[in-house]
Amino acid sequence: MKQAELTIPDNPIEISNVATAFNQLIKEQKEAIEREKQFITNASHDIRTPLAAIRGHVQLIKRRGESHPEVIPNSIDFIDKESKRLETLSNQLLTLEREDLTTPKEIINLSELLLYEIEKVQLLTTFEFITEVKNDVSYFGRKGEFQQIFQNLIENAIKYSPGETEIKIALEETTSTIIFTVSDYGLGISDKEKKRVFERFYRVDNSRTSQTEGSGVGLSIVEKIVSSYRGTIDIKNNEPKGTIFKVNLPKM
Ligand code: ADP
Repeated sequence: MKQAELTIPDNPIEISNVATAFNQLIKEQKEAIEREKQFITNASHDIRTPLAAIRGHVQLIKRRGESHPEVIPNSIDFIDKESKRLETLSNQLLTLEREDLTTPKEIINLSELLLYEIEKVQLLTTFEFITEVKNDVSYFGRKGEFQQIFQNLIENAIKYSPGETEIKIALEETTSTIIFTVSDYGLGISDKEKKRVFERFYRVDNSRTSQTEGSGVGLSIVEKIVSSYRGTIDIKNNEPKGTIFKVNLPKM
C-alpha cells in the first residue's frame, strides 16, 4: 500500500493543498482495504462452492454407491473436474500473491512458444485460428509467465466467442517493442467493463450467467506479469464486434 508522504508547510494555501492530498490518500487506502476484503470474500466463495459440490458427491457415493453403482462414474467425473478447478484456482492465487523470483530468466523464443500453445488449444476446439507470428522473436524472461499470458488471452477469446468464429493471433516486433495481439469476434467488452476486467475476480455479468468456466483472475495475472516486464495491456473493440487484447513489451 502507498505510504503517506507529507511535509507540513506554514502557508495557508499550501496547508489546504496538503489537506486535500491527505484526504485523497485516506480515500485510496480505504478503497484498497475494501478491494482486499472483496478479494477474500470472492476467493472464499470460489473455493467453498466446488468443495461443497465435491463433498456432496462423496456423500452420494458413500450412501448409494453400493446399491446403485451406476452413480459412481458420473460422481467421479464431477469430483475430478471440480478438484482440477480448485487446483487451477489455488495456483492462480499463488501467482497473484507473489512474483516468481526463483525461476531464472532466460532468452525465450516467443514465436515457438506461442505456436506451441496455439497448436495445443487448436486440437480441442472448432475455432479457426489465423496466425501472424513473426519468426524467431526472442525475449529475456520466464517461460512459465509467457505461457500464462498466451494461454489466458487465447482461452478467453475462445470462451467468450461463439464456436467456429475466427480468432486472430499475432506476434510482431519493432526495434523497441514486442507486440502480442489476440482478436476475436465474440461477446465484446463494454467501455465501462474494460476498466474493471483486470480486477481480481471480476467477471462481466453475461459471462457469470452464461455457462463459461472461470473465476475472474486470469486477466489480473496477465496484467501483473506484463507490468513486471514494464509492459502494457490494452483492450479495444474489434470490428464489427468482439475484442482485441494487445500486449506491448519493451525490449530490454
Ligand atoms: P475468467 O475468464 O476466469 O472469468 P478473466 O480474468 O480472464 O477471468 O476475465 C475477466 C472477465 O473479462 C471475464 O469473466 C469476461 O467477462 C471478460 N472477458 C475476458 N476476455 C474476454 C473476451 N475475449 N471477450 C469478452 N469478454 C472477455
